[in-house]
Amino acid sequence: MSMNMKRRTLLKVIVLGDSGVGKTSLMNQHPLYVYKKFSQQYKATIGADFVTKELQIDDKLVTLQIWDTAGQERFQSLGAAFYRGADCCVLVYDVNVVKSFEALHNWREEFLKQADPAVPETFPFIVLGNKIDIDGGNSRVVSEKKAKEWCASRGNIPYFETSAKEDYNINEAFLCVANTALASEHPQDIYFQGISDTVSEVLEQRGGCAC
Ligand code: GDP
Ligand code: MG
Repeated sequence: MSMNMKRRTLLKVIVLGDSGVGKTSLMNQHPLYVYKKFSQQYKATIGADFVTKELQIDDKLVTLQIWDTAGQERFQSLGAAFYRGADCCVLVYDVNVVKSFEALHNWREEFLKQADPAVPETFPFIVLGNKIDIDGGNSRVVSEKKAKEWCASRGNIPYFETSAKEDYNINEAFLCVANTALASEHPQDIYFQGISDTVSEVLEQRGGCAC
């Protein structure tokens, strides 16, 4: 490693949940600690897209490569490239739509089946209850207590209530994503000078590029 190369950790994060719960809106917010962000269009080739957010935790530079669907979650037909090599899975529901909460179970099962993590029991999930801003919270049908119970009974999954519209709690949620994935996995340490090198390298390694 040459002297001017920085040490970075790259984490692949995938975001799952019913269509319309706010996944794309959540990942497109620009958290304060992000100092570099760009999006690459892979929708056409693999039906998915990702944004990259970078943050510093202690003396470590962490790159979150956050994968979003291009709408195929309606058919539960996300390709293998979408799940491959995931370091953390973010499950999103809408606190105003009970069906989207009930669907978390299926999304979690689907993830475990498709991504096939080495130790499913300890794989890092995060749950986000989104759209808490709507109607000042008066139209919510899933209580925070109920959501926390669901998370507690599945190995204490961290839970956050968010609003993509009002940019509420999103920094905190993604910081937790990074910390949880770092603590429980063996993310790939990558040495490189420019972020675009990393992305192409990881796409190669993880089969994320169909081109
Ligand atoms: P996705 O299908 O899960 O990717 O959901 P989108 O991000 O496309 O959001 C679906 C709709 O919900 C859009 O009209 C968003 O503007 C809206 N939306 C997303 N997050 C929030 C939120 O936190 N509050 C409110 N009020 N609307 C939201
Ligand atoms: Mg979307």
